[in-house]
Amino acid sequence: MNDIFNPSPEHQQLREMLRAFAEREVEPQALEHDRTETFNLPLFRKLGELGMLGVTLGEEVGGAGLDATAAVIAHEELAAADPAFTLSYLAHAMLFANNLYVNGTEAQRMRYLPSACSGERIGGMCMSEPGAGTDVMGLRTEARREGDHYVLNGAKMWITNGAISKSELGDVFLVYARVKGAERSQVSMFLVEKGYKGFSLGQKLEDKCGMRASSTAELVFEDCVVPVENLVGQEGHATICMMRNLELERLTLAAMSLGIARRSIEIMNRYARERVSFGKTLDHFGQIQRHIAESYAEYMAGRAYVYNTASHMNLKEPGHRLDSDGVKLYCATMAKNVADRAMQVLGGYGYMGEYHVERLWRDAKLLEIGGGTLEAHHKNMTRDLASVEKIL
Ligand SMILES: Cc1cc2nc3c(=O)[nH]c(=O)nc-3n(C[C@H](O)[C@H](O)[C@H](O)COP(=O)(O)OP(=O)(O)OC[C@H]3O[C@@H](n4cnc5c(N)ncnc54)[C@H](O)[C@@H]3O)c2cc1C
Repeated sequence: MNDIFNPSPEHQQLREMLRAFAEREVEPQALEHDRTETFNLPLFRKLGELGMLGVTLGEEVGGAGLDATAAVIAHEELAAADPAFTLSYLAHAMLFANNLYVNGTEAQRMRYLPSACSGERIGGMCMSEPGAGTDVMGLRTEARREGDHYVLNGAKMWITNGAISKSELGDVFLVYARVKGAERSQVSMFLVEKGYKGFSLGQKLEDKCGMRASSTAELVFEDCVVPVENLVGQEGHATICMMRNLELERLTLAAMSLGIARRSIEIMNRYARERVSFGKTLDHFGQIQRHIAESYAEYMAGRAYVYNTASHMNLKEPGHRLDSDGVKLYCATMAKNVADRAMQVLGGYGYMGEYHVERLWRDAKLLEIGGGTLEAHHKNMTRDLASVEKIL
């Protein structure tokens, strides 16, 4: 039978391998890293040993050469144990590594991607700014060409993997900026490394509601000198790179929502069979049955939508805008609601860290904001549907 969730034996093996890894290594450290707001770099590097940091990259740079469905499996399985750790993985493997692999030159790929695949270097992507998030084309970071280099000035906000520890920058970033004098639609992309003159950490972004084990930083560029060979793609033509990468970002963020929802359902389902109230286990009560049954049905609907979208996604070509917005719109809220119901089913215990669902609930909220807010998805989807007469 055709299984859209594991379309080949390779996908099935990938899922089994990652599920075992997540249960054995990711789950046990999740609560502690949430509490201390620390990124687990040694564990992250183990994903490199498993070939996961370059899951969608070609073997010539050390990648696994797999497709969008494999990327979805990785995010779903890891997020079931620790969404914050998975967000750092997404920023590195999808927003940095896959973005550079698709849009960079051979020389840029060979220079940066083998070390990104091994986990030696940690990457991130800088689009958002203190004054420009949803209105991303309103970005103000400016690049000025001076001979054999560009000079960058500006600041980027909310950058996942921006800092590896509370005081140390991440290793390498794809940074969107506008070359002086360019029009609003003409954005360029640059590779900026830790250690470049004029590149530093801005204000600390701590005490997040959720995703606390993933570092988030403001990055500042003050007359930052970037060699001309670090321009990715043509000057003024990176908007298409940004859009193409956003599709994969939204798909994999939706996959993270699936992981959160599945885990929440498993926890509330088990608890409802064990907890006794009024002489019966909770699963005898209609209101509790509704929480469990509706959660399962919504999770399965979201799962089918995500895997169907992944099966059509060509990582090198944009063209999945409507459904990449659609899967994230649906799954982000679905996961938040499911985690909320799980807390309700667990009562007071659900409110405590050791029962996990309060962490999943806090982490789930980010997925309604990062990579595009719900309102951005509404706007984008309505625009794309405006030219459609028949949906199927
Ligand atoms: C933990 C975390 C990690 C992140 N990681 C990264 C990263 O690695 N790289 C990166 O570049 N960015 C990252 N982001 C930024 C994220 O993508 C932005 O926060 C998001 O796009 C929203 O932008 P904003 O925060 O500026 O909100 P705004 O754009 O200011 O929006 C505020 C509110 O207004 C609404 N709004 C805005 N415009 C409209 C409109 N036209 N119609 C209706 N409503 C509107 C929004 O939907 C939202 O509700 C991260 C954010 C967080 C919190």
